[in-house]
Amino acid sequence: MLIRTRPKFRSTNPAERRTLNVSTHAAPSRWPTTESASGRFWPRLQTALLDLLFPPQCVACRRAGPLVCDACAQAVLPVGPTICAGCGRPQAHAVTRCDQCQHLTADPLSGVRIAALHSSPLREMIHAFKYEQQPELAAPLARYLVALIQTLPWSAAFPSVDGVVPVPLYSARYQERGYNQAELLASAFCHSVQLPLCSAWLLRQRATPSQVGLTAVERRRNVEDAFVATHAVFGKRLLLIDDVFTTGATMRACAQAALDAGASAVYGLALACPR
Ligand SMILES: [Zn+2]
Ligand SMILES: [Zn+2]
Repeated sequence: MLIRTRPKFRSTNPAERRTLNVSTHAAPSRWPTTESASGRFWPRLQTALLDLLFPPQCVACRRAGPLVCDACAQAVLPVGPTICAGCGRPQAHAVTRCDQCQHLTADPLSGVRIAALHSSPLREMIHAFKYEQQPELAAPLARYLVALIQTLPWSAAFPSVDGVVPVPLYSARYQERGYNQAELLASAFCHSVQLPLCSAWLLRQRATPSQVGLTAVERRRNVEDAFVATHAVFGKRLLLIDDVFTTGATMRACAQAALDAGASAVYGLALACPR
């Protein structure tokens, strides 16, 4: 059964973070709240004028107000404590390997954690982030990753990470969108938890058709050898970040490329997974 309570916001102070001794995925009480706009006079005036012309609204419920209203931010359903240890997806009972992970003889990922369920209103937020040119959603969405990390015993979940690496986008897709949503998410996450962002460690060496609508086997074949890691990963522990974790095929292909280039361990962190 999934626990529907909200994570409690904790300090991003690294010293405090490392002393967390929570032994289980804690029962949180509330997601972090959205921050009010601040900054210098002219940018704020420009924003105010734009807001007059195009009144801002919540990307999920479309009510006038911030990009993500507090009601929608709090309505996101976190992944509960009973998960598959292999892929981090929610399960009725905690399992070492779920049905979808059992076929893996050697999983290139040493562990995966997923913040929330890919259901409304998070689904609408992710859709706007990826397909409606709303890169500003990176910060409010990254807060779910930060909140998840802060409910975990840091050292047990992702031991001494050397670098955070977003799942790369192929250049044509990057040019079409103008940004890599996983990289923006990873950047906002790194800013909060003070870990180094190492986007250049992993590259997508060929385009792959969208994974949407493919079976698990098709997804695996689709992304096979699509990624290559640089020598910088040699001996390093990586934390991969992506927006949605479905079968894990993309993240595992990234992890395999990093291991092939000599990485010592690869962990995964994703914003959302299907129910
Ligand atoms: Zn809303
Ligand atoms: Zn699994």
